[in-house]
Amino acid sequence: MNISDSELIRAILISNGHQIISSEADAEVVLMNTCAIRENAHRKIYGRLDTLRPLKKQRQAEGRPFVVGVLGCMAQNLKEELLDHPVANLVVGPDNYRSLPHLIDRIVQTNHPQEGTPSEILASLSEYETYSDIAPARIAGVNAWVTIMRGCDNFCTFCVVPYTRGRERSLPISSILEQLSDLVKSGYKQATLLGQNVNSYCYEGAHFADLMIQSAQIPGLKRIRFTSPHPKDFPEKLLYAIAEYPNICKHIHLPLQSGSNRILNRMNRTYTSQEFFDLVKTIRRILPTATLTTDIIVGFPTETEAEFQETVQVMKTVQFNNAFIFKYSERKGTIAGRDYPDDVSEADKTDRIVRLNAIQHEIAFAKHRHYIGQTVQVLIEGMADKGVDWQMGKTEGNLTVVFPKTVFHPGEFVEVEISETTAGTLYAG
Ligand code: SAH
Ligand code: SF4
Repeated sequence: MNISDSELIRAILISNGHQIISSEADAEVVLMNTCAIRENAHRKIYGRLDTLRPLKKQRQAEGRPFVVGVLGCMAQNLKEELLDHPVANLVVGPDNYRSLPHLIDRIVQTNHPQEGTPSEILASLSEYETYSDIAPARIAGVNAWVTIMRGCDNFCTFCVVPYTRGRERSLPISSILEQLSDLVKSGYKQATLLGQNVNSYCYEGAHFADLMIQSAQIPGLKRIRFTSPHPKDFPEKLLYAIAEYPNICKHIHLPLQSGSNRILNRMNRTYTSQEFFDLVKTIRRILPTATLTTDIIVGFPTETEAEFQETVQVMKTVQFNNAFIFKYSERKGTIAGRDYPDDVSEADKTDRIVRLNAIQHEIAFAKHRHYIGQTVQVLIEGMADKGVDWQMGKTEGNLTVVFPKTVFHPGEFVEVEISETTAGTLYAG
């Protein structure tokens, strides 16, 4: 989502006469588009701000303005608190990017050679802003990110997103379809539809399944993916649409969070582990080849070892292809942050994440061995880290495949026979 928002920000700046350059040492403005989902994300940004201290000092000594902006979710979440850092002087929330050129100009114009650079802050959420009229300045590649909705109304108790991104709002279906056609014309082969709750998409009565059906019919769009969905919005119509169109990738990210009903209830996830499992069964009936991935939080307040074991059990039963496992991180302003003391010790959180990662590793390793001897279709993305003689790409199930260099280029499909696998990667040749 932040990559996509940064493409939007780039477009706004370029159309206002700014130039994007690659070296921060030469830049007059440095913007960081931030995430607030866990404390680690916050720490990274404070670390980055620290690295800009020498540059800031140098500019101050020269009497020149230096604009350092913190944008996105952390800006919305922390607001003025960010200006306590001696380097940051611009704080702009996710619904205020249109004001960026104006705020930057004001800082530059009111810069005082002796007293230093002034600060600006704008972090007000909107119920309407979708930026649907702005064509993002995308980075060239195989995949294009396409934001189709913004915000979240679910208020899971652990999550800061409803506070940093505001209420759910969807882009007009016509504007999304137009963007997709333009992307094909520009050479992109794959589009990933994005939203905090992508499958809650709803615009003038059109739901996510309707959007998918229409998107899939755009000539030349070879692959469509979507992230991140919520398990509550998977009607069979959507699953049948995914099954029907060969260019909709057979990969479903289905965030479980916990296998314990008591914890799921305290998280306000609105499903039980049985309902989650029933959905998995429906998905597997309608989409038998689909890969499944998930997100898990360990150490949610009051989670016991027995409840953690319930998560282990669901993971063993479902057999996800991959899982993103996080330690619970208390977020300012959330319901859990306010009402539930963060009482699972750091040692227990670490112990649980290590054990769950090991279990998931074994599951994925065993699952992916079944691909050995099979021929899979891969959309080539580029060179593999393994070396110059190797290329890499993704299966429609989003599994990474590394294979000996072919005559084909990124954006083209190849068929390769899998000879070796690890938990995360399939190898051919
Ligand atoms: N909208 C998606 C998730 C978006 S956030 C959904 O509802 O599933 C991505 C993931 O970050 C979440 O699935 C969750 O596993 C994790 N996450 C969110 N808040 C967190 C927190 N406070 N601590 C730890 N992990 C968190
Ligand atoms: Fe956060 Fe996802 Fe829950 Fe929304 S649905 S509050 S984004 S975890």
